[in-house]
Amino acid sequence: MPRARLIAANWKMHKSISEAVAYAQEMRTALPTLPASCDIVLIPSFFAVRPAVEALAGARAWVGAQDLHWEASGAFTGEVSAAMVKDAGAMYVLVGHSERRHGFAETDPIVAKKLGAALGAGLTPILCVGETLSERESGLEDHVVERQLAVAFGDKSAEDARSTVIAYEPVWAIGTGHTAKVSDAVTMHRTIRKWVQERFGSPIAKALRIQYGGSVNPSNAADLLASDEVDGLLVGGASLDLASFLGIARAVVRS
Ligand code: PEP
Repeated sequence: MPRARLIAANWKMHKSISEAVAYAQEMRTALPTLPASCDIVLIPSFFAVRPAVEALAGARAWVGAQDLHWEASGAFTGEVSAAMVKDAGAMYVLVGHSERRHGFAETDPIVAKKLGAALGAGLTPILCVGETLSERESGLEDHVVERQLAVAFGDKSAEDARSTVIAYEPVWAIGTGHTAKVSDAVTMHRTIRKWVQERFGSPIAKALRIQYGGSVNPSNAADLLASDEVDGLLVGGASLDLASFLGIARAVVRS
């Protein structure tokens, strides 16, 4: 069974509720023009999750949240729990995005707890991993990504791994216009899949969806998706404009 490709739009801190709803409604209209093997996920701000879910109700597209807290409830002002994300109707949640890891001091153990909370609530986590430029220049990219995986999945089961999507997002490629070379992305996806195979076995590794993220746009999406190793794309800046995001989704050719 080929892995259905997952094309996700991470809007970061952009778009009001009304802008998110208008986009979701237009997306819904455009869905029949997209390849059938393409799963679409919109990832707006927390406030726009529920309105986007309602705008897409019954359509073959899903909504995710950008973050969550690992505790179920409590005195954590400003935070949102996994159950709240689920209650809003989200199906996916980003975990360990590099802007959280590097801008908000999210450590590997924190990411591991968030991954556990997401799985516990029945959400599909998109676990983001990736090295910085200096780590790549020092030849440490495999070491860094394997460490991120080892900590995130340290206390997780094979079933947990089966329920997780991994996004390889080299930090130096995010929002910079510098996309990873296709060969480098594919090499890292193979490293990730091998790690998952050794830890959780072949069937889980074969079913695992690994997205690439980092300055994806309509011009480079097809080259990235030409490899069977690339099971989808996590798109930031280029997803803010619907025509651009649709251009990326149309690059999915796997049937
Ligand atoms: C992201 O936010 O996950 C991302 C990959 O951003 P961009 O596409 O803008 O590099």
